[in-house]
Amino acid sequence: MTDELEQAIPQQGQPVQPETLAIRAGRSANGSSLAPVLWATSTFVTPTVEEGRKMATSVGAAQFYTRYGNPTVNAFEEAIADLEGAEAARAFSSGMGAIAAVVLGLCSKGDHIVSQHQLYAGTQMLLQSVCPRFGIDVSFVDCADPEAWRAAVIPGHTMLLLAETPANPRLDLVDLEQLAAIPGPMKAVDSTFATPLSQRPLDYGVDLVIHSATKAIGGHNDITLGVVAGTRELMDWIWGFAVLQGANAAPFDALGGLRGLRTLDVRLRQQTATAERLAQVLEEDDRVSEVRHPSLASHPQFALAQKQLRHSGGLLTMDLAGGFEAGKRFVESTQICQLATSLGGPETLVTHPASTTHVNLLPEELAAAGITPGTVRISAGLEATEDVANDLIRALGGLG
Ligand SMILES: *Cc1c(COP(=O)(O)O)cnc(C)c1O
Repeated sequence: MTDELEQAIPQQGQPVQPETLAIRAGRSANGSSLAPVLWATSTFVTPTVEEGRKMATSVGAAQFYTRYGNPTVNAFEEAIADLEGAEAARAFSSGMGAIAAVVLGLCSKGDHIVSQHQLYAGTQMLLQSVCPRFGIDVSFVDCADPEAWRAAVIPGHTMLLLAETPANPRLDLVDLEQLAAIPGPMKAVDSTFATPLSQRPLDYGVDLVIHSATKAIGGHNDITLGVVAGTRELMDWIWGFAVLQGANAAPFDALGGLRGLRTLDVRLRQQTATAERLAQVLEEDDRVSEVRHPSLASHPQFALAQKQLRHSGGLLTMDLAGGFEAGKRFVESTQICQLATSLGGPETLVTHPASTTHVNLLPEELAAAGITPGTVRISAGLEATEDVANDLIRALGGLG
């Protein structure tokens, strides 16, 4: 997989690998503390009226009021900006807070958005149910078809292309080079599944990259956190909306995000190794009709995955031949793998989208999203690979 993410440590200029940068980044506010400092405060003492006025009227004041900025939150933002090769970043209280700020901060009544059928369910609901109430039209295309993205653009009307890659839940990919080459609208990419260590959308010319840091970046299922990174100009504009939207990141969660970044690379490698093994084992099992993982030659965009992703990642999906009932029974019968909605943490999690995350979708929407009644999503954790594999095989055996 590609190895082109080498970057300079800020203020030192020495080119290093991204995993090294993940250790070194976001330290400018530490003082002599090796670990990040938690600024558990909602407000800051203002030195003079004149400085207070300046902070209240300028973008991104770091020590005025925590909804505007906070040194712990800023350190996390700085780390993400460095890892993504961005000029600036803003952290949010969740991934949805970040996505809502991009969509509602950049688009107005009369604007048009192009997005994809294969999406995180929250993003889909925002685009489908909230945007129309504000007079924003949204078209959905098959994310794997670059021509469909291009054809859906209405010149002078389409403000934003909002992509997610790898996408929920079947790990379909958007060709970032092709997406970035579409002239006109701004492009934002939800890169949550990849993390900043596996792909850098901004390198292709995309304008904004979004993460739910609740997932692999936080990495321990103990925070909710989101982040957007991009050019200074766009991030300043988004900041202006975000400070009124009020979905600012809590300092404690930003601390958890920074801590997660330090171990992200080793976790990602272990989870990828487990997911690759599970994908091979499940692909050989007749109770499973299809397995999707970017490492499999059977993935319809295998060549693009090799080119675009540095790690094939810890997520995989499979379709159970027994359909809806088999999916429900399966996720309730694993013992090491737990039934819970999320991904990227230490525990291997299984979900059955048709009965949980995507339960609100109509059958035709489910089909367009690539979800069958027997689709099961697996987020590989950090347990011993063979223990996870054996647990899944045992649960498959119970399907009869
Ligand atoms: C979880 C997730 C989100 C939403 O993030 P929250 O932190 O739960 O608000 C958005 N996009 C993707 C791809 C996700 O997996």
